[in-house]
Amino acid sequence: MGSQISWESRFARRAARITSSTIRELLKMAQQPGMITFSGGLPAPELFPAEAMAQASARLLREKANQALQYSTTEGYPALREWVAARLPGTQPDQVLMVSGSQQALDLLGKIFIDVGSPVAVESPTYMGALSAFNPYEPEYLSIAMDEEGMIPEALEAVLQRGPRFVYALPTFQNPSGRLMSLERRRKLVELADKYSVPIVEDDAYAELYYSDQKLPTLYSLDQQMRGGGEGNVIYLSTFSKTLAPGLRVAYAAGPRAVIHKLVQAKQGADLHTGSLNQMLVYEMVKYGLEEQLSKIRQTYTARRDVMLEALAQHLPKGIVWNQPKGGMFIWVQLPQGMDAVSLFKKALEQKVTFVPGQPFHADGSGHNTLRLSFSNAEPELIREGIRRLGRAAEEEMEL
Ligand code: PMP
Repeated sequence: MGSQISWESRFARRAARITSSTIRELLKMAQQPGMITFSGGLPAPELFPAEAMAQASARLLREKANQALQYSTTEGYPALREWVAARLPGTQPDQVLMVSGSQQALDLLGKIFIDVGSPVAVESPTYMGALSAFNPYEPEYLSIAMDEEGMIPEALEAVLQRGPRFVYALPTFQNPSGRLMSLERRRKLVELADKYSVPIVEDDAYAELYYSDQKLPTLYSLDQQMRGGGEGNVIYLSTFSKTLAPGLRVAYAAGPRAVIHKLVQAKQGADLHTGSLNQMLVYEMVKYGLEEQLSKIRQTYTARRDVMLEALAQHLPKGIVWNQPKGGMFIWVQLPQGMDAVSLFKKALEQKVTFVPGQPFHADGSGHNTLRLSFSNAEPELIREGIRRLGRAAEEEMEL
């Protein structure tokens, strides 16, 4: 018998950058009965259009099995690409790539844009999953300070001057902060990125989850407007995960043909193509519009957000502040300086409630006094009880 291989020594160097965060480990501890979780960014499963999907997939398998079960092109299901292109200004179907979740687009973008040590600009905080996707390509992050209206222009310009490969931006109901970048800041970002010739990756996963009438133009469309059409500097990502179902793993990237073409080549090596049946199923679900589904989601999440905001006001001790998101799934909480969200997390676990501590969303390691609460996945009664528990944990932590 040979001896057991020491696997760590066999892994590629980049594998050292592929780690699960301490937070994930902490969250594993939270899988106990009776726990109220505000940690996962999960859509409400009762809103999945399961019955309509059951019928549509039965129909597809009856009528189009040869296509639905066969290999297909890397670019994606043509009818769905057309549907996507028709919804984006100045975009042709050949500028759209269907991907296996926008998470895959983030990985592929890392693969084609990031060399070891390449500067990459990210908001602070930013989507933790993007950092996990980019990390193995070994970028050097340039963090851009934000306030409630998004990236602060002076901080943005200082970073753009350092020539990042791209700016990764989440202007609409950002994960984790729920923030909505103002129109003025959006314009400024598009102008500055143009001035310094820096591409923008716009991750617009929460675009449809707005709970007021205010729908702001995407960076992608502002960039188009600014140049009067044609290909621009913005690579746009969105997904059907938050509007239909994340388990389908269907999302898309759109943008300049040269980038889409390179992404297609990268995707060929990753998974050949996104599941044919799933793409066709998404098309069946969206081809007559998603309005009914979206209005159900908006109604349910608006109510849950309002319940959580009310409960926070009622139960959290003075000194803790949070924002009032106009959409999305998250509320961003700031603890007093010096109070540590991981320490609060441990107290919260004892009270049987969870959230995500904010530090891992910060590429520069800051944010120890921040945390993310997700309101999409719990019934109002549980939200009230969960925030009551969080209030108790916070009082203990502050020794009130
Ligand atoms: N981007 C953002 C901002 C997200 O919040 C998520 C999901 N949590 C993703 C991308 C990944 O989504 P998916 O891969 O399901 O499309």
